[in-house]
Amino acid sequence: MDVTNDSGPRALVVGLGISGIATALRLRQIGWTPVVIERAAARRSGGYFIALFGAGRAAARRLGILDRLTDRGADGVAFDIDRVGGRRAGLGFKDFPGRPWLMTRGDVEEAGFAALPSDVEIRYATVPTRIEQDAGGVNVTLTDASGATSVTERFDLVVGADGLRSTVRRLVFGPHEHYLRRMNYMAVAFQMPGAIPGHDQSDSVILAEPRRSMWIFPFKDRPPTVLLSYHTDDVDAEFGRPKAERVREVFGPEPAGPALGAVLDALESAGDVLFDSVEQVRMDRWHRGRVVLVGDAAWCVTLYAGMGASTGMAGADLLGTMLARHPGSVTEALTRWERQLRPSIGYLQGNGMRMRSLFVPATRFELARRRMMLRVSKMPVTSPLFLWWRSRGKVARMKDMDFAHPGPAVRVRA
Ligand SMILES: Cc1cc2nc3c(=O)[nH]c(=O)nc-3n(C[C@H](O)[C@H](O)[C@H](O)COP(=O)(O)OP(=O)(O)OC[C@H]3O[C@@H](n4cnc5c(N)ncnc54)[C@H](O)[C@@H]3O)c2cc1C
Repeated sequence: MDVTNDSGPRALVVGLGISGIATALRLRQIGWTPVVIERAAARRSGGYFIALFGAGRAAARRLGILDRLTDRGADGVAFDIDRVGGRRAGLGFKDFPGRPWLMTRGDVEEAGFAALPSDVEIRYATVPTRIEQDAGGVNVTLTDASGATSVTERFDLVVGADGLRSTVRRLVFGPHEHYLRRMNYMAVAFQMPGAIPGHDQSDSVILAEPRRSMWIFPFKDRPPTVLLSYHTDDVDAEFGRPKAERVREVFGPEPAGPALGAVLDALESAGDVLFDSVEQVRMDRWHRGRVVLVGDAAWCVTLYAGMGASTGMAGADLLGTMLARHPGSVTEALTRWERQLRPSIGYLQGNGMRMRSLFVPATRFELARRRMMLRVSKMPVTSPLFLWWRSRGKVARMKDMDFAHPGPAVRVRA
């Protein structure tokens, strides 16, 4: 390969999220020189809940960061509640097939970042504004986030790990509208200041109604994280109003009751609130020449699949493996990487669409079906059978799959 650097091929990694950090780490492990650029002025921390499934834990182990991750999920009681004080046995996070570990997005990013060698170059407040490639390399114009200064540099590979609204994807593959598939749902996530009224801090609590829901994810060592989800007919209009005001409107006009009421109040003063539309990224190809997309930029499966962090790390890990296996040809490595990943990611994207009805039922029928499933899963006679059936299912297999060695024989249990 025609390389631009004495100390191994040089890669530009755009984005310092889970996928970008994992990519930089893996590239460094195989002898490449990654340069990471990040639009934000500093690395973020905290963030909403992340369920890390077997696939993610397998990738984390190979990246050498599994020891830095712990399951912070609380093992309290799971409740399905209504607004007027009704409660019944509900779905806990631990009931999910694959028994994921619960943590925050910041935990995963911190674990990867701590493992990055200190000489990996990271440039904050920097974005790509032009990407041009030829057979031997890629010229990228890097501009500081204020737009004041630019420099053009040459790389052997460019990895777009810059999330759902990826700039690399727009510059190299085309406009967002070609690839983003809106699900017409909004997600609002933030950390509560304390326990939900009437509940222990370790309880999982769900309030599900047609077209709107509230999920409380409990942590062992800090107050819970909330996820509010709701249907919308007009995604663009959602961003034109103050978030808290809009969310109150969506969850009204009925009285909220103590649990939802406390959540809506907390939203008014919450510091770090995620308020965004739920969209998948659908692309026929994730690479073009020497430019490749990884993580949400390439395939965003959405929070409803619960696999974005896992697939981000698994995709980054496998990318390094393929580049190491095909040192003579970046494009050959990218082609094989994509061929291996596509079937699993395709399945998980479908799962993201299906799982939406579990998170937020669209109709009374979906709500009734959800309640019936819950009842079956909690009855003493059917519960063991249900758990066995779920653990044998394809969803569990895919969430636990080791992407580097796919196939049911290599399911991982960390
Ligand atoms: C509420 C919620 C709950 C979730 N729950 C789960 C879960 O339980 N399990 C799970 O596996 N996944 C979950 N996910 C999904 C998961 O968080 C994402 O899939 C994952 O974090 C994506 O990581 P990423 O690095 O690909 O992208 P991002 O996290 O979007 O990171 C992209 C990075 O690129 C930077 N960037 C953007 N544009 C530019 C640019 N032009 N130049 C330079 N840098 C740029 C951004 O600042 C950011 O740092 C959830 C998501 C949400 C919203």
